[in-house]
Order: sequence, then C-alpha cells, then structure tokens
Amino acid sequence: MATSGTNTPHASTASFLVWEPIDTARLLESVANDAAGANVLFTGTTRGVTAGVLTSQITKRLTYEAHEPLACAVLARLRDEAVAQYALTACAIIHRLGEVAVGETSVAIATSAPHRREAFAAAEWLMERIKREAPIWKCEEGADGDRTWVHPDTGVHPDSESCSTPRPLLIDGFGRVHTDLRISVTDRCNLRCTYCMPLDVAFKPREELLSYEEIVRVARVAAGLGIRSIRITGGEPLVRREVAELVRHLVDIPGIEEVSLTTNGLLLEEQAADLRRAGLHRLNVSLDALNEDLFERIARRQGLDRVLAGLKAAKAAGFRSIRINAVSIRGLTEGEIVPLAQFCRREGFHLRFIEFMPLDGESSWSDGQVLSGREVRDILTRHLGPLVPAARADAGQPAIDYAYADHDIANSAADAGRQPAQAVGVGFIDPVTQPFCERCDRLRLTADGQFRNCLFSTSEWDARQVLRTGGSDDEIARLLHDCVQAKRAAHGIGTPAFERPARAMYQIGG
Ligand code: SAM
Repeated sequence: MATSGTNTPHASTASFLVWEPIDTARLLESVANDAAGANVLFTGTTRGVTAGVLTSQITKRLTYEAHEPLACAVLARLRDEAVAQYALTACAIIHRLGEVAVGETSVAIATSAPHRREAFAAAEWLMERIKREAPIWKCEEGADGDRTWVHPDTGVHPDSESCSTPRPLLIDGFGRVHTDLRISVTDRCNLRCTYCMPLDVAFKPREELLSYEEIVRVARVAAGLGIRSIRITGGEPLVRREVAELVRHLVDIPGIEEVSLTTNGLLLEEQAADLRRAGLHRLNVSLDALNEDLFERIARRQGLDRVLAGLKAAKAAGFRSIRINAVSIRGLTEGEIVPLAQFCRREGFHLRFIEFMPLDGESSWSDGQVLSGREVRDILTRHLGPLVPAARADAGQPAIDYAYADHDIANSAADAGRQPAQAVGVGFIDPVTQPFCERCDRLRLTADGQFRNCLFSTSEWDARQVLRTGGSDDEIARLLHDCVQAKRAAHGIGTPAFERPARAMYQIGG
C-alpha cells in the first residue's frame, strides 16, 4: 500500500485512495520520525447501525465512491493545511473506496508532532474536514436491500436520481475547493482612495443593494455548499446601518466557522464593541499611511486620527489578531513602509502589504506603479533586520507571512498589547508579481447581488434576480455552482489576454 507521508510525492490516486483493506500499522509507521514526540492513528470504521426514518436499521455493507483526482487534491490540501496549522512533523491520510464490510476501517489518518496534543488535535480536525470536504460518497446498503447514497456533508449523491437537490461542493474545473465568500454590503465609502474609486463617484441606488435578509439567505445556501468563512466588505461596510446585526445572523449559520470584516476604520471607534458582541471573529483595517498629508493625498479625505482611535477601540473591545492592510504604490508609499511596520510591531498588529492591482476607479493603473512585495520586503529587511518565513495559518491564504527575526522584541510588544505573539509579523499579498490563483478558494457576492468567481472576472451571476423573482435555494445553489465552474485558471494580469473588469474595487468588494 502506498502512503501519503509529507516527505513523499503524493499526486497519484494510490497515495490517498485504496481499494483493499487499509494497513493501519503501516500507515502509522510511515509517519514515525525522530522529531516526533507522538504518533497518532485515527481510524473511521463503518458502523453497523445507522439512524433510519422509521427505526434504527442494520447496515449490511457500505460502498465508497469518489471523484478520484478531486478527492486526492482535496486530501492533499487538507493534509498540507493540517501540517502547517499544527506544525506536524508528518501526516498521512488513506481513504478506502469500493465495498467495505461493517466493522472495517474506511478512513485512516496518521499524524506525528513534537507533542501529542498537536498530533491529536490535527487528526481530529482532519477527520472532520475530510467528512465535510472530500468528494467521497458512500452507499449504505441496509439488511432489507435498500441502498442509499450519502455524501458525508451534503447528504446526497451527485448522480442519484432520487435526489432532487444535488449539491456537490464548490469545486472548479481545476480542483480548487471554494470555502471562502466575500460579501460586499455597500459600494458607498467615506473615503475616496485613488487606487479604489473615482473622486466623482456615482453609487448604486439603495434598492439595488441586497437586504440583510437576502444576504443571509445566500450565505446559508453557500454554507450548505461548503463555504466556511465569510468576509464582510465594501465599499466601506461600516457606513451601512447596523452591520453588527448582519454579523449576528451570519455567525449563527450552521457550517460558518469564521466571519470577519474589512474596514477603513473611520467608524470603528463607535462600532467595535457592537461588532465584537455580535460575534465577529476577526478584523482587518486598511491603513496605507501614518503621515497625515499622505493619508489625505491617498484617501482624498481626512481621517487618520479616527482610524487610530478605531484601532484602539477594537483592541479595547477584545479583538485579537487585528490585521492592517496597506496598499503599496511606487513613488507614493515607500516612505510609509518602515513607520507602518514599527507602528504595527509596537501595537501588536499583523501588517500586510498588498500590491496595487488594476482595479482603481479612474483606470490610471500602470504596471510601473506596482511596488512589489519583494521590494517592500527588501526595504523592511534593510531597516528592521531579517525576516523569517512563518507557517501558513491557512493553506488558501494569499499572503506569504514572515516573522521578524528579533521576534522577542516583537513578541513582548504583542504581549503588552495582549495580542497573540504570532499576530505580530508582516505578510505580502502579491497578486501582480506572484499570483496565487492556483490556491484561490474565494468567491464574491457584490452589494448588488452578483456572484463573481474572481476579482478580475468579466462575468457575473445574478443572484439578486433569483432572489427577487421567487427563486428557490436550489436555484441560488445552481447559480453559485455555475459561477464556480466558469472560473478561469488565473487572472492573467500581465498577459496579452488580460481584460480589465468593468467594475472597480469599491463596486466589487475587496
Ligand atoms: N473600505 C474597506 C477597507 O478600506 O478596508 C473595505 C473595502 S476595500 C475595497 C478592501 C481592501 O481593498 C482595502 O484593503 C483596500 O486597500 C484594498 N484595495 C482597494 N483597491 C485596491 C487596488 N486597486 N489594489 C490593491 N488593493 C486595493
């Protein structure tokens, strides 16, 4: 039996999927290594009794079927996520396909880590995620001969005729599984950032924006299709009334594990406590400059003092791991790089620099204005010393994160601000010079109810029309599915085929 230990190539089906009984002892052996203080084996075993509609019913056998390349891609992704998240020294996963007798192992996970707590936690986390995300279906055959196909998460088989609501997960033609939905709640904003919107901006009429009820309905459908995290954005989300109410509803949706929000921070002082009470998990605050004049030149409005007050209020409200997003523009923001980094280290914020993308409202972007993440990193290294690559918190994340090599200083600052130590670092989101399309797991819903599969998509899928013409949840699900299927391999910036989208960032939702 081939195994999928982290040190072995594993692209083939044989690495993750087997048709014969799983050799669990060998799997466990495959993860043993000198750096491990604990090796853990988790197995899932086919149950003899399953809940039936009438009474409990004896299951005779189970048959597992998978979309094999996709199943392998998903298992590989989950394995890599577990390794990064729990700092495992090795990890291997095997799922069995075909007929599996009652009492036999259908899935086995082996993990090793320096300490047993991480090894256990990773194995448990993997088991749950595999159940929910791997495109592997099982057919339960009862003692009475009845056969029922069951997807571990969605409860249906994709080809089942008896199934009127097929809901395969949101997997595109390149095997990317979509678990993140960015929801824009408005195109309005209280700033006029040069890189985002035109000065002379015309906003959508309010009746064209989705209501909170409509947004929550779409989010529920999306959660049923595997969306696990939601980011609320805009325009500026805090200019829309009672956004905390929306948060309260979104965090309650079964399947949604994280709700976060991106804001320019101007209204955060007034709203931070409400957002926290509503259950918002995470906050990103955009701040490109600490110099007042430059702030105003970029934002074309004043407000730096309000952003700083908002950040203070967010900390006081109990938000942890606050991130600061700063757009880098050549000839404009170079002088802010070091002050921003020093400010974030002092305050215990994780800083991320974002490359300027061709999504500005005045169509004046040029590639000459792109100050690359690499250049920003060099400036930081020159002034603040070496940066060391940090573990990726989330395998789908676009940012490449670093910690400061003299992390003791940074960590003591973080402690003073009662932020977790790992929050203090610096990351680079480099969509122009280092596109991360191959690991993109994001979908978007614009404030006026259009699904998009990419920031640079030139097509949209009209959910508002479905919502406002009595459409069913199945129709919304199908629309989202169609949107995912049409996703291109990459955005193509810098290629002759690249076509700038008609909408600017504030109209899409960053
Ligand atoms: N108003 C909120 C804010 O400022 O965070 C949320 C919306 S804003 C569009 C989301 C993020 O997109 C911000 O961090 C902003 O800096 C970033 N952004 C906007 N236009 C951009 C562009 N052309 N290139 C790179 N990032 C951009």
